[in-house]
Amino acid sequence: MNFMKITGKIDEIRAQVKAWKKEGLSVGFVPTMGYLHEGHQSLIARAVKENDRVVVSIFVNPMQFGPTEDLASYPRDLDRDSALCEATGAHMIFHPEPEEMYAPDFCSYVDMSVLTEELCGLSRPVHFRGVCTVVTKLFNIACPDRAYFGQKDAQQLAIITRMVRDLNMDVEVIGCPIVREDDGLAKSSRNTYLTPTERKAALVLSKAINFGESLVKDGETDCKKIIAAMTELIESEPLAKIDYIKIVDALSMEQIPTIDRPILCAMAVYIGNTRLIDNFTTNL
Ligand code: AMP
Repeated sequence: MNFMKITGKIDEIRAQVKAWKKEGLSVGFVPTMGYLHEGHQSLIARAVKENDRVVVSIFVNPMQFGPTEDLASYPRDLDRDSALCEATGAHMIFHPEPEEMYAPDFCSYVDMSVLTEELCGLSRPVHFRGVCTVVTKLFNIACPDRAYFGQKDAQQLAIITRMVRDLNMDVEVIGCPIVREDDGLAKSSRNTYLTPTERKAALVLSKAINFGESLVKDGETDCKKIIAAMTELIESEPLAKIDYIKIVDALSMEQIPTIDRPILCAMAVYIGNTRLIDNFTTNL
């Protein structure tokens, strides 16, 4: 097993990455908010496979949470996360305090239009500005050759990919497939909020995703019909409350009426007080 380091200091991560680069080693980077599960682990494992050195960041970024969201209650367990990172072959964890990342007079933001104005951007108005700003900072700190993001957060992946292109960031963004529980529920740190009854009810998300995907595979191209069928399925679960179910162009995130290009079908659904997301994409 490799000897993994943990630091909360920007200077230390910079010095280490510089030293690796001087040796000609490639650096992979996996940004996370911690409370790691097999979804995160799949990203780390891929990064380990494709790079000489791997940095995992664990930072619950206050800037991407709205005032009524779960920043204070977001689950945290650095010891468990460290063990998982080390066992998966990561070389360094960056775990800064918010004060290390944001000076009291911080006032520089990365604010994207269009792609952030659909789907989760509508119900989480400050979210993607926080994500783009922190990911830019993390890229500037860790200077990775490659960065790994999950398809679980499909809109985030599209936004980061676009940001890197638009702002000429020197990093390759790599999307990784959704990892699910055996029964189909997409793995998420927020699944820990669910009571046993809610956990059962949450299965309705992946069921609706499978159903929508099968309709598309069977040749249905009318987005309204697909969304109506998925909505009906979700509404059959009394504990579920739909935030949105939408079909958008996979690149622009704009809603489309007909499936005539690569699409993202994404949903956010409350199970009790917990907001869960899931999606499928298709290249049809
Ligand atoms: P988070 O800690 O929730 O910010 O997630 C960190 C990274 O892990 C993001 O790129 C997520 O898309 C990815 N991720 C989270 N859950 C999953 C999952 N179930 N499958 C694949 N990737 C995931």
